[in-house]
Amino acid sequence: MGMLNATVLVVNQNYEPLNICGVRRAVVLLDRGKAELILNGRGELRTPSTTVPIPSVIRLVHMVKRPFMKHRLARREVFMRDNYTCLYCGKQSRDLTIDHVVPRHRNGPHTWDNVVSACIPCNHHKAGLTPAEAGMRLLKEPRAPRANPYSLFQHRTLLEEWRPFLPWAG
Ligand SMILES: [Zn+2]
Repeated sequence: MGMLNATVLVVNQNYEPLNICGVRRAVVLLDRGKAELILNGRGELRTPSTTVPIPSVIRLVHMVKRPFMKHRLARREVFMRDNYTCLYCGKQSRDLTIDHVVPRHRNGPHTWDNVVSACIPCNHHKAGLTPAEAGMRLLKEPRAPRANPYSLFQHRTLLEEWRPFLPWAG
């Protein structure tokens, strides 16, 4: 029953992509009339009373208010914001550290506008100094990233057949 591990794209009543759920959850939503089938997946699913096609895309019957997703201030989020680039030397790297522009021991806050991605050599060079003291310059002013309503989809596997429903996939 590998099909039960398949994923289903859930779109809002207005066809905006909302989230990804499992087949079981999707079938329950369909069964309860909370969603309608937009696109079939592969195969069929036997329920106690009937056999239903496995969905690939379902659409909610009622509009759901999208939760506002704020970016967590986590290492990976900082690296993503900075495009995996050291904000001091501009080198792209998977081997980055988090640098506090105004160092922590100088009461630099742990906030979006005081953290940047830094490569290891730059981080060592800057040590516990401010950029000015270390003779370094930021290539870009760090800021909080804009809340991305689709961040939910960022690390998920997206099926090719969902493409027409994903505005950013073109
Ligand atoms: Zn660097």
